[in-house]
Amino acid sequence: MTSRRTSPTNDARLTLGELRKRCEAQALPLTGPRLAVLETLVGLQGTHPTADEVYACARDRGFHIGRATVYRALEAFVARHVLTKAAHAGTAMRYDGTLARHHHLVCLRCNGILDVADERLDAIPLPDTSKLGFAISDLQIQVRGICRACQEREQADQP
Ligand SMILES: [Zn+2]
Ligand SMILES: [Zn+2]
Repeated sequence: MTSRRTSPTNDARLTLGELRKRCEAQALPLTGPRLAVLETLVGLQGTHPTADEVYACARDRGFHIGRATVYRALEAFVARHVLTKAAHAGTAMRYDGTLARHHHLVCLRCNGILDVADERLDAIPLPDTSKLGFAISDLQIQVRGICRACQEREQADQP
């Protein structure tokens, strides 16, 4: 079953220029290591990488950068709203360059996260949490299932 209103948000490609603009708007100085992390993130877009994945990819690209520096850079980006965190309970924190409202398809096999935009999900009203004293910042739907790659892998494994 498909819907015309459901579309991946990957058409909004993350560019280095866009990320630099976000840093400039927040007066966040673009040091060498931060720039290396941004360039690496552009190459990893759509994958919601963990800090370790960003570190490994940055090293593969030839950047001489330490693991702690990558962690610090990612946290600085989150603090200044250059990136956001894609939380998935029980797994390593993942970073997300898509700031616009969107939702996540979470694969239960590989823990991969795909972006999905759907105006029906956006229209879900916020719950009343006033009695719980909980201040809501946003509502993001996590749709869980098995991604295409994992389905194909499982079919190939069938005798
Ligand atoms: Zn998967
Ligand atoms: Zn996302």
